[in-house]
Amino acid sequence: MPYYEFICRKCHKKFAEVLSIKEHETKRVHCPKCQSSETDKVIEPFFAKTASKTRGY
Ligand SMILES: [Zn+2]
Repeated sequence: MPYYEFICRKCHKKFAEVLSIKEHETKRVHCPKCQSSETDKVIEPFFAKTASKTRGY
């Protein structure tokens, strides 16, 4: 199953969750530290670079 990294917007705690594609689309991920649902997905730098540079629409 895919593994996703998130960062909490409130306490900036970085954590990882293993979610299926469907869970990833529907499930609210909560910070394990402060229980906030305001989390951002961490995109790996390598992936982000290739995605933005190779396709220049
Ligand atoms: Zn938090």
